[in-house]
Amino acid sequence: MKFLLVHAHLEQKSFNSALTNHAVVVLREAGHEVCVSNLYEMNFNPVSSRENFTTVADADFFKQQREEAYATDNDGFAPEVLTELEKVEWCDVLIFQFPLWWFSVPAILKGWVDRVFAYKRVYARGHLYSEGAFAGKKALISVTTGGPETNYSPLGMNGEMDKILFPIQHGMLAFVGFDVLPPFLSYSVAHISDAERQEMLDAWADRLRTVATTEPLGWAPKITEVDETGQDILPRFLTHFTIITEPPADVLQAENAMTARLKAQSILQSLHLAEDRRQGWLTLRAASLEDVERILQSLPVYPYLQFETTRLK
Ligand SMILES: Cc1cc2nc3c(=O)[nH]c(=O)nc-3n(C[C@H](O)[C@H](O)[C@H](O)COP(=O)(O)OP(=O)(O)OC[C@H]3O[C@@H](n4cnc5c(N)ncnc54)[C@H](O)[C@@H]3O)c2cc1C
Repeated sequence: MKFLLVHAHLEQKSFNSALTNHAVVVLREAGHEVCVSNLYEMNFNPVSSRENFTTVADADFFKQQREEAYATDNDGFAPEVLTELEKVEWCDVLIFQFPLWWFSVPAILKGWVDRVFAYKRVYARGHLYSEGAFAGKKALISVTTGGPETNYSPLGMNGEMDKILFPIQHGMLAFVGFDVLPPFLSYSVAHISDAERQEMLDAWADRLRTVATTEPLGWAPKITEVDETGQDILPRFLTHFTIITEPPADVLQAENAMTARLKAQSILQSLHLAEDRRQGWLTLRAASLEDVERILQSLPVYPYLQFETTRLK
């Protein structure tokens, strides 16, 4: 496979650089082709302007998407942008390697997305998500943080990591067609031991070796499942469940695998357990109440639980 790694860290001795360098070695050893866009080393200019283009659609009024559409039709992207565009078009897997900055990507990487993911060439009305230009390619983000994992847990003061990464994983990557793989997260990298950092590098290598078989996150909408107002055509249901008899361990294990599958298929939207773990709530995305019943009956824990479902507004 062909991998493009977009690296956003200035310091060559940083842990981000260690992750990128390790990725290059591991992927090449596995027989893959690897290209790195090291944004600071390239002195990549992240500021979008007329310098994105060699053509001009409207000299009086700068509207970036209009210029992008014109450049798409008239071979008008500046070399700095075109080179990056062609790298993304070349790759099968796009990786972003970056430190979390202000709950987001560093500006140099945001600017790379601003300039490279150009209207008409990469996305357009009706050419989003499953119909985006990069459909069929995979994307994976590898993020380091200052804060520990607990800060990003459901009760964490920073909010859940999935939500923090949503603008990147959904708004930038899934939006233009990528199948987004679960993120690789290295928490609190400056406040842990060398041995722990080495474990992270080993875990990163394992993730890279299994990219081809990793299930993508399941929440990217299919354009065929969206109506003309841009809303999902399937309704949501809230199911309350109560445990009647404690399920055996092997059933719970099978249940975990089923839960992951339903999440990946965008059917299970959320799952909450009460503190006593005797009851909980599911939000499901399904065509009808009958469909929900069919899904519930497919759960390994179904015989042990009692369910009550309400359609949500
Ligand atoms: C502007 C800004 C905004 C920020 N916003 C946030 C935020 O919103 N949330 C948050 O949690 N954090 C935030 N941070 C913190 C930031 O995310 C972390 O500082 C960053 O993720 C740490 O990664 P690094 O690569 O810079 O680590 P470094 O400090 O470079 O590295 C950590 C340690 O790893 C060591 N190391 C390097 N190579 C190896 C190797 N091969 N093996 C083992 N060890 C190695 C280094 O020597 C160092 O001791 C922010 C920081 C800045 C500057």
